[in-house]
Amino acid sequence: MQADRCLGCGNPYCEWKCPVHNYIPNWLKLVTEGRLFEAADLSHQTNSLPEVCGRVCPQDRLCEGACTLNSDGFGEVGGGFGAVTIGQIEKYISEEAFKQGWRPDMSHVVATGKKVAVIGAGPAGLGCADVLARNGVKPVVFDRYDEIGGLLTFGIPEFKMEKWVCLDLMKPEEAYQDMKGQRVVVLGGGDTAMDCNRTSIRQDAASVICAYRRDEANMPGSKREVGNAKEEGVQFLWNRQPVEIVGDGKVEGVKLVTTELGPPDARGRRTPVVVPGSEEIIPADRVIVAFGFRPNPQPWFEAHQIAIDQGGRVIAKDQQHAFQTANPKVFAGGDMVRGSDLVVTAVYEGREAAKGILAYLGLD
Ligand SMILES: Cc1cc2nc3c(=O)[nH]c(=O)nc-3n(C[C@H](O)[C@H](O)[C@H](O)COP(=O)(O)OP(=O)(O)OC[C@H]3O[C@@H](n4cnc5c(N)ncnc54)[C@H](O)[C@@H]3O)c2cc1C
Ligand code: SF4
Repeated sequence: MQADRCLGCGNPYCEWKCPVHNYIPNWLKLVTEGRLFEAADLSHQTNSLPEVCGRVCPQDRLCEGACTLNSDGFGEVGGGFGAVTIGQIEKYISEEAFKQGWRPDMSHVVATGKKVAVIGAGPAGLGCADVLARNGVKPVVFDRYDEIGGLLTFGIPEFKMEKWVCLDLMKPEEAYQDMKGQRVVVLGGGDTAMDCNRTSIRQDAASVICAYRRDEANMPGSKREVGNAKEEGVQFLWNRQPVEIVGDGKVEGVKLVTTELGPPDARGRRTPVVVPGSEEIIPADRVIVAFGFRPNPQPWFEAHQIAIDQGGRVIAKDQQHAFQTANPKVFAGGDMVRGSDLVVTAVYEGREAAKGILAYLGLD
């Protein structure tokens, strides 16, 4: 029903906007024709985790945001009908094909005898291992935890992605903070902040206030997620910057100052400027800081000539091969290189790093 709404645009903007450049119109057509297994094969040619990305990608600013049918995408052409639900269909293809017995065809793979250690079983590591395995290189994946998925498993909340997609792991209740009956203030304007807002609502918080230091138009998170959060009862305070968490032995509130947007910074985003004398205290029982995530560079990097930038991110560019670090035998990708981003960009970088490794090994 949805798949056959695709116009099959000559120059599909959705493909360009998708970080892994999925062959979207092609697999939509295959689904329409009932050729599900072929659609699954094609989908896995570009994406190692399509059933995950179909669920958790911010499609409104990626593939679906670029769909010609999108009402605010391309003006008159779209006619206001709304984008094809690309993410839903991507998820459906893999899940349904798998249920019906589809498995990736590895029969043509010829073992090269090469072996690569992949550190981290998050989306980047899994994307890398996928491409290596399909090219006859044996990936051995190491992780500090005993389950795969990385932040997919331990970060993304259940309402966005059922954990069975990644693993069948029940985490002990005490691992979570219970927001029931609490006045929650969430600080930040990205997708992680929206997850915290919406999870708090689901835990029956008494109130959820989200404070962000820029205005709504300049927030980094997905517009759809903000809309969902508003609908569910989250109150937003725009142009507010936190300066202090207040309380005597326990959290009692958060001190905010009002901001105005100043000139754009080096990346083109307008810088918040504090309005003098604008302090206010918002009462809170729980404050969630949902910004400022940093990579965690390892002490052994230096001994192995793996260079990092000032933000602690691994530098994996300007070398001979894609995603190669200053140590030619070490490649890197995902949040460790980009900083906190998305599952799909991590998958992309892991896959590209694998191509870099294949080139380094002379197997491209
Ligand atoms: C709360 C939250 C919500 C999010 N929501 C979304 C969303 O809705 N959509 C979306 O696309 N993205 C979302 N993200 C971002 C997304 O989860 C990450 O961008 C993505 O998981 C990055 O993948 P990665 O493989 O680079 O890193 P990670 O997922 O962090 O995986 C790294 C892996 O390496 C392992 N590791 C690290 N160091 C070592 C070591 N020294 N030895 C062995 N193993 C090690 C870790 O255990 C982990 O398994 C969210 C993130 C958070 C925190
Ligand atoms: S991977 Fe993400 S951006 Fe690409 S088609 Fe799927 S849902 Fe859209």
